[in-house]
Amino acid sequence: LVSRENHPERSTVWVGGVPIGPGTVTLIAGPCAVETPQQTLEAAKMAKAAGATLLRGGAFKPRTSPYAFQGLGEDGLRILADVREETGLPVVTEVVDAHDVPLVASYADMLQVGTRNAQNFALLQAVGAAGKPVLLKRGMSSTIEEWLMAAEYIAQRGNLDIVLCERGIRTFETATRNTLDVSAVPVAQRLSHLPVVIDPSHSGGQRDLVLPLSRAAIAVGADGIIVDVHPQPDQALCDGPQALVNDDLSELARIMREFPPLL
Ligand code: PEP
Repeated sequence: LVSRENHPERSTVWVGGVPIGPGTVTLIAGPCAVETPQQTLEAAKMAKAAGATLLRGGAFKPRTSPYAFQGLGEDGLRILADVREETGLPVVTEVVDAHDVPLVASYADMLQVGTRNAQNFALLQAVGAAGKPVLLKRGMSSTIEEWLMAAEYIAQRGNLDIVLCERGIRTFETATRNTLDVSAVPVAQRLSHLPVVIDPSHSGGQRDLVLPLSRAAIAVGADGIIVDVHPQPDQALCDGPQALVNDDLSELARIMREFPPLL
């Protein structure tokens, strides 16, 4: 279903009226985690000023440590809905448990499946049945074939509104958090009709890598970029070191203007 063999035209996925697909580079930006109404609103305003047309933000956070901030849950979803109301930005947010899919889908414009759940087949099937577009991160240890098969689980439930997200994979390299696999973009676009975006924040894990990796994403033909932003990254409860601040965002906006998408 997601293969390009029977569907030669590349697809565009619409999220709350915003296109992700060929001919555009969609900027999705926002806080890694929803922490407070004020922090989320400020981050959303920063994102919008930089040209973002979709707001990202996690209310359910899949953390490596069970002692780390796990997200605000439904309170976080309510904050996202309020910020959408105020800014007009449709919301992309992660769901980590199949049982929470109806709840998250009742607030979100797009459901995100994170790297750690990329082969959680019950979750994939549940989001496939939820009637909302899905942002499917590549598993950090998944081959491209496994990533596309994960998408197939979603599509099989009748949902073809899937955007693939390359967010770095595990390699022997330790200088970056994960290794951004830029070749995954043209390869996945050759094999599948689905749009492919890049997450330079979670792949590099460091603020100073986000802009170079964003340039790489655009140069390689990504259909979008998803980045973390935070008004006060030093105080962030999740992934502050990779969050962009205002100066970086104006540079990102400039990069996006200067590099027209490959058609
Ligand atoms: C995220 O985007 O908030 C996230 C946790 O990303 P990943 O699943 O790629 O680590």
